[in-house]
Amino acid sequence: MREFDFLEPATVQEASRLLAEHGDDARVIAGGTALMLGMRQRMLAPTHLISVARIGRLRGIDIDAQGWLRIGALSRHVDIARSALVRQHAPVLAEMAAQVANPQVRNQGTVGGNLCYADPSTDPPGCLMALDACVVLGSSRAERTLSIEKFLVDYYVTALEPDEIVLEIRVPPQAALAQGAYTRFLRTAAEHRPLVNVALVAHNDGGVCRQARLVVGASTPIPQRLRRVEALLDGSRVDARLAAQAAAMAAAEITPLSDLRGSAEFRRDMVRVVVLRTLARLFGLDINEGVAA
Ligand SMILES: Cc1cc2nc3c(=O)[nH]c(=O)nc-3n(C[C@H](O)[C@H](O)[C@H](O)COP(=O)(O)OP(=O)(O)OC[C@H]3O[C@@H](n4cnc5c(N)ncnc54)[C@H](O)[C@@H]3O)c2cc1C
Repeated sequence: MREFDFLEPATVQEASRLLAEHGDDARVIAGGTALMLGMRQRMLAPTHLISVARIGRLRGIDIDAQGWLRIGALSRHVDIARSALVRQHAPVLAEMAAQVANPQVRNQGTVGGNLCYADPSTDPPGCLMALDACVVLGSSRAERTLSIEKFLVDYYVTALEPDEIVLEIRVPPQAALAQGAYTRFLRTAAEHRPLVNVALVAHNDGGVCRQARLVVGASTPIPQRLRRVEALLDGSRVDARLAAQAAAMAAAEITPLSDLRGSAEFRRDMVRVVVLRTLARLFGLDINEGVAA
């Protein structure tokens, strides 16, 4: 691995100025789980690593005066999984975080690093999109807030400007009133990363679905919100027949990736199965998945 300088700014402004000064030769480092792999494999060779670990603004999980859940970018997956505030405000987020990768990665990797790397085979982006969450970005110039949908631009591409860092994630108050279910599918038990994941946030009003937000992740370049399926579900009583129809529609609506881990066709079929499982959990259905066991 190439030698590098390790810089430890204490403020967002200082970090931003260092990023502007060193340009493409610099990289932000948080937990280092993704970045160090890239450096060891010589895909990245920064001359300056800018650690954000000392910046207090990026720490903590709390609720603000308007009832939004604020999750500092340096929160590790394990912090989110264990947080009493997250469990109370957005239980589906805690449920998701508890399933990320393995204990080593959950204890080291941060949610900010996860979002900034924009690797498609990950869990938090889709779940946060289903919760209608926002990302707060900061630089020496200003702060700005983007929806997750605007923040994630494409395969490994985000809306971050070169001198910006992610400060925090914000989950709106109405998430606390909704129910959620999160399901991930791994290609093999030994693989940690999901091939498909599905996040559903909705109100189960005595079996009738209201205000559904359904997002498929890991099998598309960036998580995809399934608005046609949401429209089918909204205001309808969800039974096994409707769930099967919604799952088939979801499979048809996505634009799947195709790579060594799975063909587009396989991913499409697994999206159907995982959407069905997710609806079955949230609405307490007995289902026939229509696949050989
Ligand atoms: C073996 C393995 C299995 C994994 N399995 C899963 C899985 O199942 N599900 C899943 O979701 N993820 C999985 N991951 C990915 C893991 O969640 C991420 O690597 C981790 O969250 C990244 O966080 P980090 O703090 O280590 O980021 P780092 O490695 O420090 O940084 C990652 C990227 O984000 C940038 N960055 C970091 N923080 C900021 C910030 N605040 N502002 C601006 N830029 C920033 C860095 O410059 C770098 O480009 C896995 C990773 C490994 C190594």
